[in-house]
Amino acid sequence: MHAQRRLEYLKAIGVDLWVPRASARAPAAAAPAADAGAVRDAAASLEARWEALRAEVLNCQRCPLHLTRTQGVFGVGPRRCDWLVVGEAPGAEEDRRGEPFVGQAGQLLDAMLRAIGLDRRQNVYIANILKSRPPGNRDPKPEEVAACLPYLKRQIGLLQPKLILTVGRIAAQNLLGTDSPLGRLRGQVHYFGELNTPLVVTYHPAYLLRTPADKRKAWEDLKFARNVFQQLTQVPDGDRP
Ligand code: URA
Repeated sequence: MHAQRRLEYLKAIGVDLWVPRASARAPAAAAPAADAGAVRDAAASLEARWEALRAEVLNCQRCPLHLTRTQGVFGVGPRRCDWLVVGEAPGAEEDRRGEPFVGQAGQLLDAMLRAIGLDRRQNVYIANILKSRPPGNRDPKPEEVAACLPYLKRQIGLLQPKLILTVGRIAAQNLLGTDSPLGRLRGQVHYFGELNTPLVVTYHPAYLLRTPADKRKAWEDLKFARNVFQQLTQVPDGDRP
C-alpha cells in the first residue's frame, strides 16, 4: 500500500503515528517506484511460469503420442488477453510448425476470429486440448486427454481469460465434462473451472470446411460470443466517470 495512504488510513481509525518530517515525506516519494518494481516483479514471475509450463509441454512424455509427434504444440497469442480459443489437437501442419491452427482449418479460424475483431497476434490466445498430434488425425483417446488436460488448465490459470470459445465437440465436451452433442451445447453460456469463466461453444473450422452450410450457424455463435463478452466488460452506466 502507498505509504502516505496507509498513514491516512491509520489516522482515520485513530492511530496517530509520529514520524520525523523527512522520513514522513521520503516513503511517499519512494512509493511509486516501489509499486512499479512490484508490478515488474509480478510480470516477470508470470512470464517465468509461462516459460516453465511451455518447457514442460515441449518435453512431455506423459503419453505415447510423444513417440510419434514431431514436436509439442503449446499455444499461440499474447499471454495477457481476454479471449481464449480452444481446439482439439494439432494436425499435420501444426505438428510440423509447432503452432496451433496453421493449416487450412486454421486459415478459416483466423477469418472467423477476424470477423469479431480478434487476431492471434494481438488479442486472442489459441490452444488445444492435446499438445501432441494423434497419428492420422484420429480423435484423442480418453487417456491422452487425461494426461494432457492439466496443461491446458494451467494455461487457463495463467491467462485468466474473460471468455473461452471452444471449437468443435472434443474441446467442448472435455472442458465441460459432458457427453452432450455439440448442437445442444451451442447458443448458451457455460462456465468453466473455479473462476467460473464464461464459455461459449461453436463448430470446429475443419467441420465447417466439410459442411459450409453450417457456416451461418457458426456466425450466429460468434456474434453470441461477442455479445456475451461485451456484456461482461461493459461498464454499468452508474459507474461511468
Ligand atoms: N485442429 C485443431 O483442433 N487444432 C489445431 O491446432 C489444428 C487443427
